[in-house]
Amino acid sequence: MSRDTVLTGVGRADPQRHPSEARLLDYACGSLAGSARLVVGAHLLTCPACSRAVGEFERVGGDWLEALDPALMSPEALPLALARIDRPSPPAAPAAPRPEGWLPVPDAVARASLGRRRRAAGAWIVPVSRGPGAERCYLLGMSAGRGAPAHGHRAGEMTVVLRGAFCDGDEVYGPGDFCEHDGSIKHAPRATATGDCVCLIHTDGPLAAVDWVGRLVFPLLGVG
Ligand SMILES: [Zn+2]
Repeated sequence: MSRDTVLTGVGRADPQRHPSEARLLDYACGSLAGSARLVVGAHLLTCPACSRAVGEFERVGGDWLEALDPALMSPEALPLALARIDRPSPPAAPAAPRPEGWLPVPDAVARASLGRRRRAAGAWIVPVSRGPGAERCYLLGMSAGRGAPAHGHRAGEMTVVLRGAFCDGDEVYGPGDFCEHDGSIKHAPRATATGDCVCLIHTDGPLAAVDWVGRLVFPLLGVG
């Protein structure tokens, strides 16, 4: 299947852009937390190559733990562990339905997608999670050919495409693609003309408008 075909389809993925090896390692060893972990996890759901890499990191970590010399544990450790196993866990809530045309997403994202959409200038936003600090995670939808006003960032940003595709300068990001920027970038991502685009975004700080359009629109969307 050609890249162009994939970009026009919905609900299918052939990711071409992936998290760095360091990010995947952070994910495997559990040091990537919060919504950054959620966004990388959403990419893993659609990317066999990165899932294999994380599985390999976890296997190597497990082998390393097994090779450690045994350590003496406190006498209470075993009873405490057994008591936790016996404790009944609360019944799991039924999984939220995946929005039509989207790639598979973590349940927390499917659940958040049912929330109220803030709309402005051909875009919409639904919050997914907040904090700690300035950390935010949200879903951004852009109508075909429309986009976010030009903006800078006060901190890093991670994005994974859940539906459609968007352009950022000369780059095109399709279904399942992952991109990460530090706080120095200024850009104006825009959905391709082939269809609506939905992205899951993690940021460590609010957007910084570079003109009056952003200053008007970002407060309406709740990201300024
Ligand atoms: Zn990948």
